[in-house]
Amino acid sequence: KFRHIMVPYDGSDHAKNALQYAKDLVETCPEARISVVHAVPSSYVGTDRMGTEGALDGVPYGMLDYEEYQGVVQHVLDEAKKRVSENLGDTLADLGDRADVVAVAGASPADALARFAEEHDCDLIVMGRRGLGAIRGMLGSVSFGVLRATDIPVLTVK
Ligand code: ATP
Ligand code: MG
Ligand code: MG
Repeated sequence: KFRHIMVPYDGSDHAKNALQYAKDLVETCPEARISVVHAVPSSYVGTDRMGTEGALDGVPYGMLDYEEYQGVVQHVLDEAKKRVSENLGDTLADLGDRADVVAVAGASPADALARFAEEHDCDLIVMGRRGLGAIRGMLGSVSFGVLRATDIPVLTVK
């Protein structure tokens, strides 16, 4: 049955419900593990939106060489991962070594999530039908984008 389930996570109640669903699912699949993946839009890197103000010490992008830039990206991803892990608390503790938290960066969160799933041979994606966005549509843009970007089966949870 399922071996590797990706749960894209943005901290929303929908995403929490998706993780709970995936957690119930892995209890029926002894071999399955979960990757909880948060995608940081590249446009956030170097801003304080992820609470990383100071990472750059006010140095504008153009003043950084490639290695320094990579260091900034890594710092933002480390912070995001820490935050997701804290946010998940008990759920993550319950899952123990069956779940990992990962942060990825990309121009498009949906494309970054789909790429992660393909590169890591995920056989199912369980995600919220909607997320943190205020507009109450039928399907959020990240869910839609993931569905468009991959042929891996996607299960959406309200
Ligand atoms: P929109 O973002 O289009 O305004 P929304 O926020 O309601 O609408 P989505 O962002 O598509 O809807 O969220 C749907 C699901 O996608 C979430 O429940 C979560 O599983 C996942 N998701 C959204 N944003 C991210 C992200 N940055 N990283 C990882 N997963 C995400
Ligand atoms: Mg959005
Ligand atoms: Mg959203």
